Amino acid sequence: MFENLSERLERSFKILKGEGKITEINVAETLKDVRRALLDADVNYKVAKNFTDTVKTKALGMNVLTAVKPGQLMVKIVHDELAKLMGGEATELHLSGKPSIILMSGLQGSGKTTFSGKLANMLKTKQHKNPMLVACDVYRPAAIEQLKVVGAQVGVPVYAEDENKNVNEIALHAIQEAKAKGHDVVIVDTAGRLAVDESMMREIASLKDAIHPDETLFVVDSMTGQDAVNTAKEFNDRLDFDGVVLTKLDGDTRGGAALSIRTVVTKPIKFIGTGEKMEAIDVFHPERMADRILGMGDVVSLVERAQEQFDEEEAKRLQKKIQKNKFDFDDFLKQIEQIKKMGNLKELASMIPGVGKAIKDVDIDDNAFNGIEAIIRSMTPQERTHPEVLNQSRKMRIAKGSGTSIQEVNRLVKQFDQTRKMMKMVTGNQAMSMMARMKD
Ligand code: GDP
Repeated sequence: MFENLSERLERSFKILKGEGKITEINVAETLKDVRRALLDADVNYKVAKNFTDTVKTKALGMNVLTAVKPGQLMVKIVHDELAKLMGGEATELHLSGKPSIILMSGLQGSGKTTFSGKLANMLKTKQHKNPMLVACDVYRPAAIEQLKVVGAQVGVPVYAEDENKNVNEIALHAIQEAKAKGHDVVIVDTAGRLAVDESMMREIASLKDAIHPDETLFVVDSMTGQDAVNTAKEFNDRLDFDGVVLTKLDGDTRGGAALSIRTVVTKPIKFIGTGEKMEAIDVFHPERMADRILGMGDVVSLVERAQEQFDEEEAKRLQKKIQKNKFDFDDFLKQIEQIKKMGNLKELASMIPGVGKAIKDVDIDDNAFNGIEAIIRSMTPQERTHPEVLNQSRKMRIAKGSGTSIQEVNRLVKQFDQTRKMMKMVTGNQAMSMMARMKD
């Protein structure tokens, strides 16, 4: 995410390295580079200019702080201004209606249907809501089917009327049904077009008037850069939406849309999509995004993700097993599953300060655990719980069954033994307090 921009900004700050203090000249030089970096990241021209003008005024004004190195001072100012540019504080959804209605808008392929599923899943699992999805993309039969698939994936019911082409009617019926069945949030997925067109705008504007949504969200593919910003403007002029959802940020190396949209449409970015899986959704935090752009990592988000997956009962059970030195391959497998649930591995690693840049060109693929999982799954229940029985012939059988080699099996067994030993060293109160700390 935003790798190109991060690298360019870092290079800009190098100009100040070795300089004793900030001067008109070295600031101008640095900011010329920063502005070029922003423009190359596809940031709107006016936004980039205003940005560097503000940073310049602040940098020259703060010049009295001689204790801070010019480079550090500049990074701090740019960081704060980037966060401001993206909206400052995170903005929540308004969910006060009974039921609350969320209307999705955006072009075809922007990720509306996927995001509808992700949002339903997030509201259900994290906010204990009882959402319902509504299929109002009536032009492509495949679209209704896709929403049904997404709904089934996250266990949220989908309201659809296969024969009806009147979307206002469908949505109003859906709201009636939601009331009758006790759903507290209704998420309405709508039809997009490949480009902005009048009939689409008319339809969604009329739908908005008919159902009075609590939230109208505009979904846009961040990889389309300035086009994303222009489309946002057209939708906002017509719909006056409440917030933006930036999808496909996992593939966006530049970040132009994320940095310009807020200023151009004066509406907050509320969520981001970071992958195709239903869990690949995050509330948008401008501060944390600025941290990531400047390579400061995003430890807060990382810890939050870990906490979401943290299961207290499971941790207690595990601790008992560790204490008795009974941690086995079944537990190992469960741990791998938990890590995988936290999301894309490369993205997770990039949230650790200093790591993002280092692994930019390293290919960490999400299938990294597949070999290990295959090996464990090829073991018998007895072998999993009593690894000491693993002799050469058993290992050969496992290698064959899992499509791996004897070396890989040996490596895993060795790693497992080491993990076990290490765990034994931190048993007792120490492990307990470690886990308690994780939860706080
Ligand atoms: P819609 O036409 O607006 O409903 O768009 P879809 O939900 O069908 O999404 C279009 C494509 O983008 C699908 O292949 C999705 O899997 C993919 N997609 C959606 N969101 C994301 C995301 O955050 N990251 C990535 N990498 N792909 C996404």
